Amino acid sequence: MPRPARPILRELVIHGPLSRTTLARRLGLSVGSLSRLTKPLVASGVVVEQDVAYDPVNGRPTRPLRVVVDGLRFVGIKLTSDRVYAVLTNLRADVLARGSAPLPDLTPEEVVERAGRLADELVGDGERPVSAGITLGGDEHAPTRVDEGEFLDSGLLGWRRVPVRRLMAARLGVPCVVRNDVTALAYAHQWFGEARGLSDFAVVTIGEGIGYALFVHGRAVRVTEADLGEFGHQILDPGGPLCPSGHRGCAGAYLPTRSVLMAAAQGLRRFPNHEEVLRLAAAGDPVCSRVVGQTAWALGALIANLTTCTTVKTVIVAGEAVGVVGLARGDLDRGMADRRRDPEPVRLVVQPHDFGDWARGAAVGAIRAHVAGRP
Ligand SMILES: [Zn+2]
Repeated sequence: MPRPARPILRELVIHGPLSRTTLARRLGLSVGSLSRLTKPLVASGVVVEQDVAYDPVNGRPTRPLRVVVDGLRFVGIKLTSDRVYAVLTNLRADVLARGSAPLPDLTPEEVVERAGRLADELVGDGERPVSAGITLGGDEHAPTRVDEGEFLDSGLLGWRRVPVRRLMAARLGVPCVVRNDVTALAYAHQWFGEARGLSDFAVVTIGEGIGYALFVHGRAVRVTEADLGEFGHQILDPGGPLCPSGHRGCAGAYLPTRSVLMAAAQGLRRFPNHEEVLRLAAAGDPVCSRVVGQTAWALGALIANLTTCTTVKTVIVAGEAVGVVGLARGDLDRGMADRRRDPEPVRLVVQPHDFGDWARGAAVGAIRAHVAGRP
């Protein structure tokens, strides 16, 4: 596919069927150039013409173009320290099959083999995928990004200089991309979700750690994993609890699941699990209600800091610990109001937790690379 035709494909994948006039206007092309560029797309069967409709711009009859989404399959794989999650999608990231498997052994060969077997199960006898995406959380001690270079360092998996992209591509027999999980999730929202059409927004995730992705002028701001570590250690209350790095009241002292459990354990005089903390808080237990409230407050304070500094107006909150928001939204709002003169213009989208979403983010990484014509 010629390089200049790729933005056309991207627009059709993200926005669905569009008329040639609309496409030309969006891409800053003349209708003539656009028609010339779409010819190879239509000839190859990637894009088809729909029945005649009336153009919303000039009222003339037109045949909108539509990308054929079901011809191509993509695999998305999310790696955690104990499980692998995978989805099979079409070109518009609709999930066609999903699954997960335990990772009892974290050696690279074993992880790649388990992920490969899971992907094989999802594909079954169906259409072979054209590409795969793999995502995993960052490592705050790593000097570079997850998706930089051929060799990956991961504190989460205990990996040093592992050529995971190459190993996975060899196992699956298709091109692979490796991405930071939160950045991939943010792209999934920008292409197919709550941030579609937005050029400036942020994603914050809470779970085992704190994740962050920032989009400005339509692109992910490039930061190292170490930069993300700094984000998660910003001080929210100098009199707050301790984090493992010895900071008092940093975001990491409140938000990661382990910090929530430590705070609850202090009052309960025993170690609960995260689910139990949420359940007890919902039932009005004084210790767990207080802990969930202070966690939500800290999240609000963190979001206030980031929106004030970056001026983004949409923040998507996700991750396995996102349940605290539903239980203590008032505390989150208070955390924001403590730091912003006007928290009103900030739109918060709270994304219910689903590990399939992380794997879908990985598939979106593969779809983006495919549409852009990268390996
Ligand atoms: Zn800290």
